[in-house]
Amino acid sequence: MARNSEGALVLFSGGQDSATCLAWALANFDRVETVGFDYGQRHRIELAVRDDFRRSLAVRFPHWAARLGADHRLDATVIGQLGASAMTDPIAIEMAVNGLPNTFVPGRNLLFFTLAAALAYRRGLRVLVGGMCETDYSGYPDCRDDTLKAQQVALSLGLDRRLTIETPLMWLDKAETFAMARDLGGEPLLQLIVEETHSCYLGERSIRHEWGYGCGTCPACDLRAHGWRKFKAEAA
Ligand code: ZN
Repeated sequence: MARNSEGALVLFSGGQDSATCLAWALANFDRVETVGFDYGQRHRIELAVRDDFRRSLAVRFPHWAARLGADHRLDATVIGQLGASAMTDPIAIEMAVNGLPNTFVPGRNLLFFTLAAALAYRRGLRVLVGGMCETDYSGYPDCRDDTLKAQQVALSLGLDRRLTIETPLMWLDKAETFAMARDLGGEPLLQLIVEETHSCYLGERSIRHEWGYGCGTCPACDLRAHGWRKFKAEAA
């Protein structure tokens, strides 16, 4: 894919998926900015690793550094005023009767894309990039391809400016996401993603596994660990 002169805004949380998307955007767009949301998440570690990851990425990949523009941090703490979830409050992770885990924060991605679109409008960026995926995922309805396609249309109409939502991981499982990182930036990018991104729902960062830091048992760690083992088995 030839590099795109339209700028991209990456929804960058500091996790494996959005970090891979950031690398993908840097490989495909001339100008890339990032946005992160503070929605009162219980564990602030994701927000903390964002800066470190961006800095390390720029140091290790100088050809990408020139394209990596501003980082934006937006306050989305209004999410916490709407009700409790295992992501924002000290309650145990469990399945709800609707089949969704209580880590689901209703409206979160819809709100994030709306805020990102407004920011992109102000910044003159045409493409929003998100790490949503409906292959290895928790069933969140706002991560589904149909939801995001519909939101792309709604945002483009509501802003009267054509915006594209790119979700390069939508049809990849976690093993394929690790493979994408390797293909984009080789072993250095893979190691950076393992070492400096954070996925664990419990905010655990003192236990290092071969796939990175985390408690090793929450649904996010489970997906990441399983994906890593599958990736290594396929690469062997
Ligand atoms: Zn965990």
